[in-house]
Amino acid sequence: MEQSHKGSCFCGAVELTVTGEPAAAGYCHCASCRSWSAAPVNAFSLWKPDAVKVTKGADKIGTYHKTENSHRKFCTACGGHLLTDHPGFGLIDVYAATIPTYRHEPQLHVHYGETVLRIKDGLPKMKDMPKEMGGSGITLQE
Ligand SMILES: [Zn+2]
Ligand SMILES: [Zn+2]
Repeated sequence: MEQSHKGSCFCGAVELTVTGEPAAAGYCHCASCRSWSAAPVNAFSLWKPDAVKVTKGADKIGTYHKTENSHRKFCTACGGHLLTDHPGFGLIDVYAATIPTYRHEPQLHVHYGETVLRIKDGLPKMKDMPKEMGGSGITLQE
């Protein structure tokens, strides 16, 4: 049986599960994640859409999209952030902090060109995104 992890928003009105293993995981340093989350970096885990199920409070999920590629979803009762749908990639970023039992195993840092918090963990630091995800593929120093 594949492992599932339960998550919820800040108030608990919205619950979700993710099942299996993420397609990728890491940290995003982009200004959009920073501004939206009010945190210096965003720990992301990317899942195929069928691995993510909203199990409670789907009617309480609000969406904001500044760009077509990132539909940011939150609980309309508490404002707690849940996930970002990336339709262009066919992947959903469920914030690692939203699913507490999921063990975050980061592979890389993306949008490090915009960082305000340098993290010296030896992982690759992409200036923007890997080539296979439409980025420059350029890596930066930690
Ligand atoms: Zn909530
Ligand atoms: Zn970001």
